[in-house]
Amino acid sequence: MSELSNQYPTGALQALDASHHLHPFTDHGSLRQEGSRVIVKGEGVWLTDSDGNRIMDGMAGLWNVQIGHGRAEIADAVATQMRQLSYYNTFFKTTHPPVIELSEMIARLAPEPYNQVFYVSSGSEANDTVLRLVRYYWDLKGKPDKKTIITRWNAYHGSTVAGTSLGGMKAMHAQGDLPIPGIHHIDQPYWFGEGGDLSPDDFGLWAARKLEEAIDRIGEERIAAFMAEPIQGAGGVIIPPDTYWPEVKRILADQDILLVADEVISGFGRLGEWFGSTVYGIEPDLIAVAKGMTSGYLPMGGVLVHDGIAQTLEHEGGEFFHGTTYAGHPACAAAAIANLTIMQDEGVVGHVRDVAAPKMAAVFAGLADHPLVGEARTKGLLGALELVPGKPDRTRFANEGDVGTICRDICFQNGLVMRAVRDSMILSPPLVITPDELDWMGTTVRKVLDETGAELKRRGLW
Ligand SMILES: *Cc1c(COP(=O)(O)O)cnc(C)c1O
Repeated sequence: MSELSNQYPTGALQALDASHHLHPFTDHGSLRQEGSRVIVKGEGVWLTDSDGNRIMDGMAGLWNVQIGHGRAEIADAVATQMRQLSYYNTFFKTTHPPVIELSEMIARLAPEPYNQVFYVSSGSEANDTVLRLVRYYWDLKGKPDKKTIITRWNAYHGSTVAGTSLGGMKAMHAQGDLPIPGIHHIDQPYWFGEGGDLSPDDFGLWAARKLEEAIDRIGEERIAAFMAEPIQGAGGVIIPPDTYWPEVKRILADQDILLVADEVISGFGRLGEWFGSTVYGIEPDLIAVAKGMTSGYLPMGGVLVHDGIAQTLEHEGGEFFHGTTYAGHPACAAAAIANLTIMQDEGVVGHVRDVAAPKMAAVFAGLADHPLVGEARTKGLLGALELVPGKPDRTRFANEGDVGTICRDICFQNGLVMRAVRDSMILSPPLVITPDELDWMGTTVRKVLDETGAELKRRGLW
């Protein structure tokens, strides 16, 4: 453990942090005023901050700590690997045992017919790889005009230039003059926010048919791929209506367009199966993964490549001029192997499917009657609470985002990390969370909602 965390009081750590650390996705003015939160320890679903407070990690870090914090097996596996071979690259026809073993493991866990993995170090890089790979694929197929990638507004595909461009976050696009050309965004299947008078099922069809309209307008001969998260995560746990994915599949069935599933969140168990694609019957051509692959113990991501595309690369391509220094890093591969081994040996995915996800659904159902909650939705171990001023209509609070921020801060004070996306409160706990811990979470969230309501009244916002 770092000596700083043992020896310095919180205020000194915050001052040092403020002096030298530019944080990602942070308003630095307000961070400097409020001071950053210093986390010093993690164990299971619990974190400890520098003042000794225990906090439940209701977001599993950033949706990625599947097996919980602090598992010594991972530390041991990484240490052993580092002593054996701390680094060698996988460029130019070299490889090493950990990346070989991991690839075989992932091919076994992935649905058919995915037998090839291209490694990177993050979800953003996975999607950068997807962008280059699908365009290169169509070049190899003799269709160089097929270059446009269709994605959705309010999707999150990472923060690099390609990731931001593929994503549909307008505030991100506005910084850096994005998106790059060749990305076309369509409506998202967000019924609670945008469904109007349509039923969820009708709205799901409507949103899927935006893909059909885009194909008609742009022309199939110019479209390389449609890319989507099975469930939008950072956009606010947007669980599509049941009609959405079947209709997307119907639309793409007779089109020569690749389907890319961004499974950076839904991959590795979060929805109660190893991959979200099988939960929704999506059958994509490429699957982007990262986050849960190592449970966050070390950075790693990848693109799972369908046999058809892999064969095209092998038989029709020459060298694919793409790759990063740390692709397939041996220590990261060792962490991933240890993580996936724990997940298999301890039946973590079955625990999500049979125990944790039904329990979380029940906990959320119990919160739906709270006067601030317009909708409480879950799928697997993803959940969202839509905060609204009144029911049953779906009107929003004025100044969207303020109420979510107030609620999130109250949540922290009550020892629970919950994320605010606009005025939706998001939970995505470690997959190993127990029913008792989920009960604690539910009780705490109800208390937080009550306190949020009182605070809103005090400020005249409700
Ligand atoms: C987090 C995320 C990414 C980006 O992953 P990084 O590792 O942060 O680059 C991409 N897609 C989805 C769906 C994500 O949730």
